[in-house]
Amino acid sequence: MDAWLTHALLEGHPYVFRSCGGDPNGFLKEFRSAWSLLPTEVREKILQFWASRPYPPIIELSDVWSPKAAVGQVRHTGQELKFRAECFLLFRTKAAQWIIAHELAHLYQKALGRPPGGESEEKNEAEANEFARSWGFDDSEANLLVFYASMHDVPWSEACSVIYGILPDGRQPRRKSKPQP
Ligand SMILES: [Zn+2]
Repeated sequence: MDAWLTHALLEGHPYVFRSCGGDPNGFLKEFRSAWSLLPTEVREKILQFWASRPYPPIIELSDVWSPKAAVGQVRHTGQELKFRAECFLLFRTKAAQWIIAHELAHLYQKALGRPPGGESEEKNEAEANEFARSWGFDDSEANLLVFYASMHDVPWSEACSVIYGILPDGRQPRRKSKPQP
């Protein structure tokens, strides 16, 4: 069993996240990068929301929560954010950041005072996706992975090897230096 570790979440803020297994440094890099891409007013709203609560938020990177098929989750009226550790070992940046942005969008909904769960599950999810897209995040890779894993009921490792076997590897091609005249 992996040990629980505690890490600083954001520079200049007292919030922490806890991890059990996975790659907390890789997760932190993606989280901070996604956070920095949020519009200023969204970041401020979330920070105000956290500051207004009696307890600091619980943010967790682990695989010890259910359901196994979930990649992220916001619970207890925004008090808890959970991220699937395995996914942050396997997913590339685009998919990893989409998951973070989508969960932060749910948190933003709570910060805006939306009722828990919204009007309906469907509308709640659609609105979270709309927020994340409007902030510039791309759901295409995450959707393929989630769709493949749930449709075939396979582990994330298998979904990633199939989907990433089809997708281009996402790295920028090395720029060839032009021959000097
Ligand atoms: Zn959602």
